[in-house]
Amino acid sequence: MFCKEVTESCTTSMDSDLATSSAELGSSNYRKADPGLSGNPGRPSNNDVHDLLECPVCMNLMYPPIYQCPSGHTLCSNCKVRVHNCCPACRHELGNIRCLALEKVAESLELPCRYQILGCHDIFPYYSKLKHEKNCKYRPYNCPYAGADCSVTGDIPFLVMHLKNDHKVDMHDGCSFSHRYVKSNPQEVGNATWMLTVFNCFGRQFCLHFEAFLLGLAPVYMAFLRFMGDEDEAKEFSYSLEVGRNGRKLTWQGIPRSIRDSHKKVRDSQDGLIIQRNLALLFSGGDKQELKLKISGRIWKEQ
Ligand SMILES: [Zn+2]
Ligand SMILES: [Zn+2]
Ligand SMILES: [Zn+2]
Ligand SMILES: [Zn+2]
Repeated sequence: MFCKEVTESCTTSMDSDLATSSAELGSSNYRKADPGLSGNPGRPSNNDVHDLLECPVCMNLMYPPIYQCPSGHTLCSNCKVRVHNCCPACRHELGNIRCLALEKVAESLELPCRYQILGCHDIFPYYSKLKHEKNCKYRPYNCPYAGADCSVTGDIPFLVMHLKNDHKVDMHDGCSFSHRYVKSNPQEVGNATWMLTVFNCFGRQFCLHFEAFLLGLAPVYMAFLRFMGDEDEAKEFSYSLEVGRNGRKLTWQGIPRSIRDSHKKVRDSQDGLIIQRNLALLFSGGDKQELKLKISGRIWKEQ
């Protein structure tokens, strides 16, 4: 079962992500995720050095400045702050002694990308590994769902199943759509009201976000599209959105944003169709007590 497999492999690396802050991409957990690697026959010394570079407190790989206590116990700079200057191994005061030898040795080390199990086969000098991993195209995507904090990560097929099964998101086949958004009390715009629909077209998936928020002090509604994939591919597509009523209409044409860009980032950059509340109520007709917007749109591939 494909999904199950993906779940498990992604969970392994996800857990390690969660165990540390996301900024600490230097985690060495790929080694645990792939036991085959520790038996790397050509480089036995690599593994020994690799073990030395693992911080004994947080188990992440250490990057300069690497500290040591007067007795030689090493630890990373993050943990040095956390243990209040007291060596966790021997309880001596730590001071500010750098372990320059270890920092130098690390320079000679070459390690595979931590997303090796997800398909990246590149090997990197120790100090450029982190930089690569921040942009590795095999790194897992974050769940694009915006409503609640969701820490699930994975590849696109996994996330599509996750959106469908765990967030009960509407799935829609086809490249054009027409959606109705109805809300009985449009005054509550401050409450993050949002919806997500996933479109399947050109064999790819797109997330249509619709939400209400305050832009400065002005209540607005916004709709925008995100592409489930990387930015270079997102740029191959365009989309349009349209909302209106009785001869008036507002249109937007844009390029879907990659889900590598967080939902909030896209929203805050206002890269989408923005409808002021008064206009939205005008488009809703009726007594202005209810929001009833019909948004239609289309996705196409640029030639
Ligand atoms: Zn540490
Ligand atoms: Zn010590
Ligand atoms: Zn990589
Ligand atoms: Zn999620």
